[in-house]
Amino acid sequence: MSKTYPFEEISPWVETPDDLQPPLVDDLRADVVVIGGGYTGLSTALSLRAQGADVVVLESGFAGSGASGRNAGHVAPTIGKDIPTLLTMFGEKRAALLARFADAAVRYTEETIRKHGIDCEYDPAGNIMAGVHPKQEKRLRKAAETASRLGAEMRFLPEGEMRERGLPAAFRFGVFESCGGTLHPGKYVLGLRRAALAAGVRLFESSALVSIEEGSTVLARTTHGSVRADAAVLATNAYTKATGLRQRAVAPLRVSLFETEPLSPTQLEALDWRGREGLYTAHEVLESFRLTARNTIVGGSKVIRYAYGSALAEGYDPGAFAAIEGAFRERFPMLGEVPVANFWGGWIGLTLDFLPQIGVQGTHSNIFYGLGFCGHGVPQATLMGEMLTEKIQGRAHEWEVALQRRNLSWPPEPFRWVSAKIIQAALVGLDRRTDRQIRRAR
Ligand SMILES: Cc1cc2nc3c(=O)[nH]c(=O)nc-3n(C[C@H](O)[C@H](O)[C@H](O)COP(=O)(O)OP(=O)(O)OC[C@H]3O[C@@H](n4cnc5c(N)ncnc54)[C@H](O)[C@@H]3O)c2cc1C
Repeated sequence: MSKTYPFEEISPWVETPDDLQPPLVDDLRADVVVIGGGYTGLSTALSLRAQGADVVVLESGFAGSGASGRNAGHVAPTIGKDIPTLLTMFGEKRAALLARFADAAVRYTEETIRKHGIDCEYDPAGNIMAGVHPKQEKRLRKAAETASRLGAEMRFLPEGEMRERGLPAAFRFGVFESCGGTLHPGKYVLGLRRAALAAGVRLFESSALVSIEEGSTVLARTTHGSVRADAAVLATNAYTKATGLRQRAVAPLRVSLFETEPLSPTQLEALDWRGREGLYTAHEVLESFRLTARNTIVGGSKVIRYAYGSALAEGYDPGAFAAIEGAFRERFPMLGEVPVANFWGGWIGLTLDFLPQIGVQGTHSNIFYGLGFCGHGVPQATLMGEMLTEKIQGRAHEWEVALQRRNLSWPPEPFRWVSAKIIQAALVGLDRRTDRQIRRAR
């Protein structure tokens, strides 16, 4: 009989809020209508409100029910696939700018947490991209050197320093990203939601956008109501296909996570992860691990799924759950059979060049978008709110230049499905080889 895994439809980080906002049942007028209530939508709404704008947010579930309430909570200055790839794709000057943008996004997020007094267990312990096989050392040394030459706050951690930090032996060496750390993603997004409501943002939940009409004003329709506004903002990231706009900007990829039961004092002592840095491996499709404030381990990734036509790939995924639990057991043998309490997941919005997109479209250039965070949206979607606010007001934010380029589109189906499968097979093949080499070396 196949194993049944404990599964959360959304995540253990969030529950439907007690003050769930009513669905839209009227025809309203606003300065700006924001579609989507995650980090992007809420931080845009907050930033616009601070400038005095009348803002309506339409959210299909509750604000925080998307990736913003499901992610692993690493607040890291990671941008693109990795720094060496950035350099190859965009050259030294642009790569340096992007590295500084990613640092600025982390700093802005820290400031946002402070400004709104959000208690989200933020721990500025940094993150480490760890090598799990000796063959990765040269690449990681080079990545750290390049990143620090480009101005990023990163340095190589040799094996001795990893052991001094008490990190599990499976994580041999690494690149330390001192800027950032980890947080409770649910408390963070619900804190932004609270701040937005307190600031006077009109939030409608269970209110999915069903169509959007272009014009000198934009008309956003839900099943039972509508909002006419001078401008609209698409803040739907991996869900963007549902809006009918920017259909080929992002491919939604399903990523799965798990959380263990809280570790006992004996297990914590055996683990000895005293710096509590966030960890991810240098695999092509990384494995991620972190301690939470209540001493559970949240981890996962490793497996990505794409569904034909950019549909949202199925959430309950025993193959992915077995792979992420297996990786966890291999990297943390000192924890024995500490039970996994939950599996869940969400969809990341992947752009073809691994960078977020900001822009405007529509016959009257009044439909703005900020999306495609490629799994790095905790800080970058937060900063996107201020960038979109400036853009709506006709100004270019100081960091917009970092993201200015020709926005690439995924090919139409069936080519998108074929290319997604080819990329996935190549990455998974490389990772399986690495994992086999690690097992053989033991
Ligand atoms: C499993 C997982 C792990 C991750 N781990 C990390 C991490 O550790 N660090 C990191 O930086 N990033 C991570 N990410 C990425 C990060 O969570 C996202 O980049 C970020 O949350 C994007 O925020 P957003 O507001 O743009 O999108 P979302 O939070 O997805 O918000 C979009 C909202 O739009 C709503 N919506 C959809 N359709 C409609 C519609 N028709 N009308 C109205 N509303 C609609 C959705 O319900 C959703 O609430 C992870 C993502 C996943 C899925």
